[in-house]
Amino acid sequence: MYRGLIDRYRRFLPVADNTEIVSLHEGNTPLIPVPEIAKLKGFKGEVYVKYEGLNPTGSFKDRGMTMAVTKAKEDGMKVVMCASTGNTAASAAAYAARAGMKSVVLIPDGNIALGKLAQSMIYGAKVVAVDGNFDDCLTYVRELCDKHPIALVNSINPYRLQGQKTGAFEIVDDLGEAPDYLLIPVGNAGNISAYWMGFNEYYKEKLSTKLPKMWGFQAAGAAPIVEDRVFEEPETVATAIRIGNPASWQKAVNARDSSQGRIEKVTDEEILEAYRIIAKNVGIFCEPASAASVAGFLKYAKDIEPNSKVVMILTGHGLKDPDNAIKQAPEIFHVENSLEAIEEVIL
Ligand SMILES: *Cc1c(COP(=O)(O)O)cnc(C)c1O
Repeated sequence: MYRGLIDRYRRFLPVADNTEIVSLHEGNTPLIPVPEIAKLKGFKGEVYVKYEGLNPTGSFKDRGMTMAVTKAKEDGMKVVMCASTGNTAASAAAYAARAGMKSVVLIPDGNIALGKLAQSMIYGAKVVAVDGNFDDCLTYVRELCDKHPIALVNSINPYRLQGQKTGAFEIVDDLGEAPDYLLIPVGNAGNISAYWMGFNEYYKEKLSTKLPKMWGFQAAGAAPIVEDRVFEEPETVATAIRIGNPASWQKAVNARDSSQGRIEKVTDEEILEAYRIIAKNVGIFCEPASAASVAGFLKYAKDIEPNSKVVMILTGHGLKDPDNAIKQAPEIFHVENSLEAIEEVIL
């Protein structure tokens, strides 16, 4: 039986034989062919999405959190803490619950999707909504974890990226080779860095014969890496990538440059269009931030070599953000209590 990504990829991860693993059997997410999306652009090649929304708490954050909480527990910590636009908080809260530990999450007040807030609360985290943005929250978390015996589980915790790199392993295991392009949303920039690390480790072990070009996508209102400047007040509908000063900035630039890739911006309109298309044309519901990779494909497909393999990471589940889904979808029909009234709107 599948027992989670630490169990599966143990030899690539910093865990000892006797390490007690904290897992909710995360990972092993499907790589789904999406010819519908390729066709929209007349692209002759293979396009896939890796649906990370199917992790236990609905985002890829679980990959890093199984490692971070496993190590925090091994170190005898009793409390974990993070700053979060929502998904890290939900994941930290769930894994802390699994480990029998406490969790504290700092979120930007009013800027967190409803599903993510609900998760953190029900998993039993102490939720602190700060009148500031994500970057402010992360600054406080760094200070508090320095000052008190609390384990920091944001992606500046190196174990997070260790866990997250397994997404790259799964793609190569599924395709039998690395893809030619990896398209991925970029917020704090940990995930693009982790994937690059994973692809390189597999390549060094000769488990693949090539490396993908890393194509990252930021929201136009939160595009510090694209514009090479800090965004003091990042703004985007894609709250999971609403980050003005990414912690893994340099690592992401390195992934881009060493892979001959690119990091570009996509507007909120482009993100929302991709968000609707992937749901309506394919039947996959992701959250707005995840749709940045699809938006990137739709915008830059013209630059992709024909006949290549493209993988887009769908980082989180659509149910995380029901408010946006309802705003973006067609209206529902309210009718009176009669057969005729229903027929009138459906026929
Ligand atoms: C965290 C997150 C991102 C951004 O990942 P980074 O590692 O911060 O770049 C993108 N999408 C979703 C759904 C996320 O939860």
